Amino acid sequence: MAVKIAISGFGGRMGRALAQAVTQAQGVELSAAVVRPGSSLVGADAGEVAGLGRSGIAIVDSLAEADFDVLIDFTAPAATLDNAAHCAKQGRPIVIGTTGFDAEQKEKLLSHAGTIPLCLASNFSTGVNLCFSLLETAARVLGEESDIEIVEAHHRHKVDAPSGTALSMGEVVASTLGRDLDRVAVYGREGQTGARERDTIGFATVRGGDVVGDHTVMFMADGERVEITHKASSRLSFARGAVRAALWLKGRGLKGEELDGDRAAGHYDMRDVLGLN
Ligand code: NAD
Repeated sequence: MAVKIAISGFGGRMGRALAQAVTQAQGVELSAAVVRPGSSLVGADAGEVAGLGRSGIAIVDSLAEADFDVLIDFTAPAATLDNAAHCAKQGRPIVIGTTGFDAEQKEKLLSHAGTIPLCLASNFSTGVNLCFSLLETAARVLGEESDIEIVEAHHRHKVDAPSGTALSMGEVVASTLGRDLDRVAVYGREGQTGARERDTIGFATVRGGDVVGDHTVMFMADGERVEITHKASSRLSFARGAVRAALWLKGRGLKGEELDGDRAAGHYDMRDVLGLN
């Protein structure tokens, strides 16, 4: 039987990409589409809103009205916290793509991993998760002898900075080098900054146009420089990854085939899904 997927944040940019990814994937079916309370989309046909033809699924504005096996949530931190609490009560796994949680919100969110399987990733694309592994190697080999800087670019509508992906890249590099990112991160520079301190990890943010998401990590040593770059050209790359994560939480493969049963409660990320951890 197909895994029933509810999408929260259906009215957003990722919501539409997720609808397309669910439609294209094997072994899953869209069972509910949830938008923010009071949205004008309530009652409309989810498939038609996503430009995919009639689906027979009416959009709702409360998760309590949704029937699903796994929730995929790409909304905003406060909404995701409510949705994760609902999933924990109902014993349903959740895939979370929302970024921009503060430390307290993240702790609250992760507390639900004691009750349900929770897959949280700042970036669900396969390529970015491969980059995390490449970054570990680069940091191990070059990290102590190079200056490390992370540059990211996104579309003009993005509300948090630096991106969750850039922060995750910084965390991978910092933890490989035994550094605490909170202590070594430098978020932008202006004025009389003084010379660069070797152990810092710098972040620079670019916003504009319709850039889906570009990230470059630079390892700059004397005489040579290595740059690891990922460029997303379509939100479908994130959406397909999130659907793959939903299948994985239910013990299914990419084609929806039964593999090894439901995951136990716990905190997972996309590297777990891809077998990279
Ligand atoms: P968006 O602003 O286009 O969409 C967010 C949607 O969530 C909006 O339609 C909003 O109305 C809706 N929403 C708010 N509260 C809600 C609620 N209580 N219930 C249901 N819907 C609610 O943003 P987007 O570009 O789609 O991105 C959404 C989130 O996903 C952001 O945090 C973004 O950074 C993140 N994101 C993550 C990845 C990843 O791979 N992890 C990729 C892209 C975007």
